[in-house]
Amino acid sequence: MRDVVVLGSTGSIGTQTLDVIARNPDRFRVVGLSAGGSQLDLLADQVRQFAPTVVAVPDDTAAARLRRLVGAAGPEVIGAGGNEELAGRGSAVVVNAITGAAGLRPTLVALAAGTTLALANKESLVIGGRLVTDAAAPGQLVPIDSEHSAILQSLRSGKRSEVRRLILTASGGPFRGRSRAELTDVTPAEALAHPSWQMGRVITINSATLVNKGLEVLEAALLYRMSLDDITVVVHPTSDVHSMVEFCDGATICQASPPDMRLPIALALAWPDRVPDAAPGYDWGTPRDWHFEPLDDEAFPAVQLARRCGRAAGTAPAVFNAANEICVDAFCDQRLSFLGIVDTVAAVVDEHLAGGHVGDAELSVDAVLAADAWARRRATEVIGRS
Ligand code: NAD
Ligand code: MG
Repeated sequence: MRDVVVLGSTGSIGTQTLDVIARNPDRFRVVGLSAGGSQLDLLADQVRQFAPTVVAVPDDTAAARLRRLVGAAGPEVIGAGGNEELAGRGSAVVVNAITGAAGLRPTLVALAAGTTLALANKESLVIGGRLVTDAAAPGQLVPIDSEHSAILQSLRSGKRSEVRRLILTASGGPFRGRSRAELTDVTPAEALAHPSWQMGRVITINSATLVNKGLEVLEAALLYRMSLDDITVVVHPTSDVHSMVEFCDGATICQASPPDMRLPIALALAWPDRVPDAAPGYDWGTPRDWHFEPLDDEAFPAVQLARRCGRAAGTAPAVFNAANEICVDAFCDQRLSFLGIVDTVAAVVDEHLAGGHVGDAELSVDAVLAADAWARRRATEVIGRS
């Protein structure tokens, strides 16, 4: 039986994690839940169903509301600082399914506590960089991201010294095949209609801009200690092949399954074991085509920009991520065009690299958070002028 803390339990990954746990009560037990303040009714339902000992919400107002919803016999409820408190309580597994840079401190606390970190919140790994990888013991950090889970599974096919390169698949998002000019007027509603995955708002927009794939290239480089030059992105619209590893003899090993996050979630919860029936496999009685095509870097420059940030390392990935978070909000509020997202992130990154960048050797959590805060301010100013 593994005790599990789920941070971000009301989101897309959080609810799918609880679904896996509910279907495997002999393997997993929920001991802690946390969520943002916007879905307290759902969080209260989860408390009633899973009976955790502790629940965290962002502030004391939300904590008082949740206490009223769950009643006096409910679990301990924590306000501000609750994610870190839960992450540090020494459960067997912490699932970090929060969105954005807010996931950094919980990630570091869980690793320091010696807990297995099932990581959906790629942002914390990407912005923390070597601060996160240095804190993780071998096997302690298990990715939930489907591409990185696929790579982890494929790596079991050979020795690390035999790996030639990693191939990350990308669905291409809803605008695959369009030129830059054809992206000028796309709307938030169009960008939110992802062809193969149902996900939270930020990652869905990031999939349309390919910022998500940029973050994932950096995530793969950190997780598997690979050079950015040895990570290739290929577009594969149906998201059947979740990613691949090419070995030195020319063999390419991939992991394929119908798109369903419950498979990588279950594997991360039970790692290194597999959970039977975590998700459905294929019906091979139905004809199917798997198509692959190169990424159009001109229409979708986000992956190249992320690579630049990865090469600069230090605080550059934090600036890339934070500026993007601000731009996604502005795009969804129709204060910024679709192309303006990556253009603005690029302008903020350029400015940071020209002055203020802290390199990997001097990197600290404070430097990451300062760069994050600066990038949010700067992106807001740039958007305000446009
Ligand atoms: P989401 O928006 O659906 O859910 C985010 C969750 O985090 C919600 O429960 C929200 O209440 C909570 N939250 C936000 N701020 C919080 C805070 N400060 N403290 C506690 N909880 C907070 O997002 P999602 O799609 O589930 O994505 C979560 C993470 O998983 C992201 O990093 C995303 O990139 C990654 N991811 C998601 C998918 C997917 O299929 N959805 C796939 C791979 C990776
Ligand atoms: Mg992914």
